Amino acid sequence: MLKDQDRIFTNIYGMQDRSLKGAMKRGHWDKTADLIALGRDEIIERMKASGLRGRGGAGFPTGLKWSFMPKQSDGRPAYLVINADESEPGTCKDREIMRHDPHTLIEGALIASFAMNANTCYIYIRGEYIREREALQAAIDECYDAGLLGKNAAKSGFDFDLYLHHGAGAYICGEETALIESLEGKKGMPRMKPPFPAMAGLYGCPTTVNNVESIAVVPTILRRGPEWFAGFGRPNNAGTKLFAISGHVNNPCVVEEAMSISFEELIEKHCGGIRGGWDNLLAVIPGGSSVPCVRGEKMRDAVMDFDYLRGELGSGLGTAAVIVMDKQTDIVKAIWRLSKFYKHESCGQCTPCREGTGWMMRVMDRLVRGEAELEEIDMLFQVTKQVEGHTICALGDAAAWPIQGLIRNFREEIEDRIKAQKAGKISAAVAAE
Ligand code: NAD
Ligand code: SF4
Repeated sequence: MLKDQDRIFTNIYGMQDRSLKGAMKRGHWDKTADLIALGRDEIIERMKASGLRGRGGAGFPTGLKWSFMPKQSDGRPAYLVINADESEPGTCKDREIMRHDPHTLIEGALIASFAMNANTCYIYIRGEYIREREALQAAIDECYDAGLLGKNAAKSGFDFDLYLHHGAGAYICGEETALIESLEGKKGMPRMKPPFPAMAGLYGCPTTVNNVESIAVVPTILRRGPEWFAGFGRPNNAGTKLFAISGHVNNPCVVEEAMSISFEELIEKHCGGIRGGWDNLLAVIPGGSSVPCVRGEKMRDAVMDFDYLRGELGSGLGTAAVIVMDKQTDIVKAIWRLSKFYKHESCGQCTPCREGTGWMMRVMDRLVRGEAELEEIDMLFQVTKQVEGHTICALGDAAAWPIQGLIRNFREEIEDRIKAQKAGKISAAVAAE
């Protein structure tokens, strides 16, 4: 278990003063100018050495992403955009940072922007996060008043402005290029990649989009050293990480832990165990709704990191939003609910996603009512394969994978449901309640 002194987020539960004064007491904003004085290349090298992989879900190496930004300006401004549009079902970790530890994010924004030669940074915050944007804006105002933002920010010689921009409730605006479109005042529709934002991002200028947690850990990594951060977790899965655990555990929570902790330890140490005990565990979605669910018995010894969850279990760490479902859960209905979500949130721009999410939801509707024929299970799987990998952005995959996980892991349950309905053992109305 991670020791208290190794936690980056020391106020994640809001027990202490979140203001600038309180944050400084906890060591934030301590000699920030010295960190900036390391220079652009050195900061990026240290971030690479830390092994930090993006905390928004995709796990792309953060230092490497920063290194894609042009070293010399070609006359275009560069931007850092922080993705605070946290909308993945089950995911609520960035919310805690912004509510209770906003200075970790603001200091990180200054250092990261300096490293990428970006004098301007936008934080794009989910529209529903009202308390969070108030806390964040208050912290930004404090920083301007204290000279930590603006001209010669934190006496570093670097001029830096930070703006908070509110989203309006569209899940797709968390996709980095849709977010950029939305920030430019347009409808939030994803762009084709490449070009990646580092080449042509906000207003066609070099841009890096990073998740809140990825930026908020930067000052501590630089203060304590990349090797300190790299010392947690298995190779290629370094660091500490916020896990958001919800569902049928005795004590749902957001907790910072070392990467590669076992699922059992995570649940026992921080969540008081599974509701009704381990024998009552049915399924887990280990990384937010976009990754496939896993059967409970395979999860107990699972290593909670990118490579294990994908390589060994065919799922993923994603946003580390761990959704636990016990045997009282109707798993078919749970995944049907996700299908409805993705159908609703598809921007409709590309055909496989626009049409495919509708098809998948309609077959899931029939499955949940037990009205489908057994052959439709394979047909549904085929539809998910037609969507997966054939769309402009990752929403198509995200809609396909939970259904694939359901069919791979719970085929028997789906078949039993169809058979029971046909035998008149459950009525469609009850199944769909
Ligand atoms: P991605 O793998 O396409 O990209 C990840 C990042 O790496 C992006 O910033 C991208 O620009 C960069 N990148 C990737 N390849 C690159 C290359 N060759 N050159 C330069 N840059 C490159 O994934 P994505 O679509 O950004 O994210 C998908 C993930 O988002 C999902 O896995 C899901 O877990 C997560 N997600 C999170 C939330 C949330 O609320 N946090 C919501 C929805 C989805
Ligand atoms: Fe829009 Fe879906 Fe295509 Fe993404 S995959 S661009 S959400 S239609």
